[in-house]
Amino acid sequence: MPAPIQSPAVFFQPAESARHTRASKSMAMAPSSKPAKTTTPHILLLPYPAQGHVNPFLRLAKALHARGLHVTFVHTEHNHGRLLRSRGLGAVTGAADGFRFETIPDGLPRSEHDATQDIWALCEATRRACPAHLRELVERLGRTEGVPPVTCVVADGAMGFAVHAAKDMGLLAYLFFTPSACGFLCYLNFDQLVKRGYVPFRDESYFTNGYLDSPVDWITGMISNLRLRDFPTFIRTTDADDVMLTINIKQCELDAPAADGILLNTYDDLERAALDAIRERLPNTFVLGPLGPEVSPPSYLPSLTSSLWKEDDRCVAWLDAQAADCSVMYVNFGSITVVTRDQMVEFARGLADAGSPFLWVVRPDMVRDDGDDDGKMPVPDGFAEEVAGRGLMVGWCDQEAVLGHRATGGFLSHCGWNSTLESLCAGVPMLCWPFFSEQVTNCRYACEEWGVGVQMPREAGRGEVEAAVRELMGDGDKAAAMRRKAAEWKEKAVRAVAAGGSSQRDLKRFVDEIARVKG
Ligand code: UDP
Repeated sequence: MPAPIQSPAVFFQPAESARHTRASKSMAMAPSSKPAKTTTPHILLLPYPAQGHVNPFLRLAKALHARGLHVTFVHTEHNHGRLLRSRGLGAVTGAADGFRFETIPDGLPRSEHDATQDIWALCEATRRACPAHLRELVERLGRTEGVPPVTCVVADGAMGFAVHAAKDMGLLAYLFFTPSACGFLCYLNFDQLVKRGYVPFRDESYFTNGYLDSPVDWITGMISNLRLRDFPTFIRTTDADDVMLTINIKQCELDAPAADGILLNTYDDLERAALDAIRERLPNTFVLGPLGPEVSPPSYLPSLTSSLWKEDDRCVAWLDAQAADCSVMYVNFGSITVVTRDQMVEFARGLADAGSPFLWVVRPDMVRDDGDDDGKMPVPDGFAEEVAGRGLMVGWCDQEAVLGHRATGGFLSHCGWNSTLESLCAGVPMLCWPFFSEQVTNCRYACEEWGVGVQMPREAGRGEVEAAVRELMGDGDKAAAMRRKAAEWKEKAVRAVAAGGSSQRDLKRFVDEIARVKG
């Protein structure tokens, strides 16, 4: 067993610290160029291989490295290839002593397609393939000269199998659940939904017959007017053996309790009630968010990025050119959402008719191929000419830079947790158009609890898009109230990660806990 040490070797040092400035020429897979101290705790981070997971994991990795820990960040071979193609070597090359990238296969057939992988297939494949690869990697790192043995694994909640593999090897094992606390608390109650007979649904009519409006008011820590439709969409199944239903139950009932602790990317002031309920069940929970610029400043190891697409550099210059503050509607549905060609046309028409300038991100793989794909962006005829000068469409952007820009006034979002948190941290109110998973929970909380969102109908037509954008970007009382609330959450987020703030304290507690074990 690894032996305990007193405290982390180094607490936070600024990015300019000499300790981190010496660039390493070693490739991701090469041993570190400088022998690391064998007393340094070595933490291995294993995110689920999707954009919304690798982003908060990399921020956590940088924050831990800045606090003196030796960090190994594990990408799947597929994502490593994507990062190399889109971002070049710098994204995955050790930029500092004690920070390395490694890769393992994801278990799916090899593909060089730069698009989001099938989430369901990936869940099954990683569970099957990754435990053995993880073991091999830990053993190989243990034999690598100059690298301290791995002492701790932080795996994604969606890679819960890693807890058991890590424990078998005598390592500390933590699970980082990347959803919101309210979303996670919903997942923690999937088992109860099954036991109480809500799930699986009796037949397919239950998807549309009003059953989803059933109240669920017995969960301590959740808002009292929660409905079945506010639960992560994986409950919407008629199959008791549904893969995503059963995987989520296993993660909460077997994997999470077996872990040494749970990590969450939120902050106490935002989700206190849900967090209290989570801590009741999983007492060693660390609330570290928002894992953003304050916890791991962009200037810290700046070349390391987890963005699987290359950002379009025109965005910030275009925003700079907008004269009025808070005037731009930013539209982005994240890395997984797909839309039909018809939905694209409705959004385009609605955005054009609303009159506000807009920045609209349409991923190359976002529009569902319905068979009549002519390769052109499905927007109405004459759209480009009509919105010239006040509308910019790009394939991917630096979202935090866009949300943090003075010109951005509203965010039409799918309510992925990272996007929601980034919007709250930037003080930007939202139009919510959730797609799947706990995005529906985040949407409900944004609109009902945090006072920063307006929900858009699933089948929003052009008129509804136009009206919603006009309302959010207008001078009405509701919009003003949402802007005020968003500004309050931003201030509270800043406080949580500032010195002495709740998330800083938990980060220190976490580092102290894992640093007690050395290689
Ligand atoms: N993102 C980005 N540029 C884009 C779109 C998304 O940098 O054009 C980032 C965004 O900042 C967030 C992540 O990708 O950190 C998306 O995660 P989220 O949880 O919001 O949604 P998901 O992609 O998982 O549906």
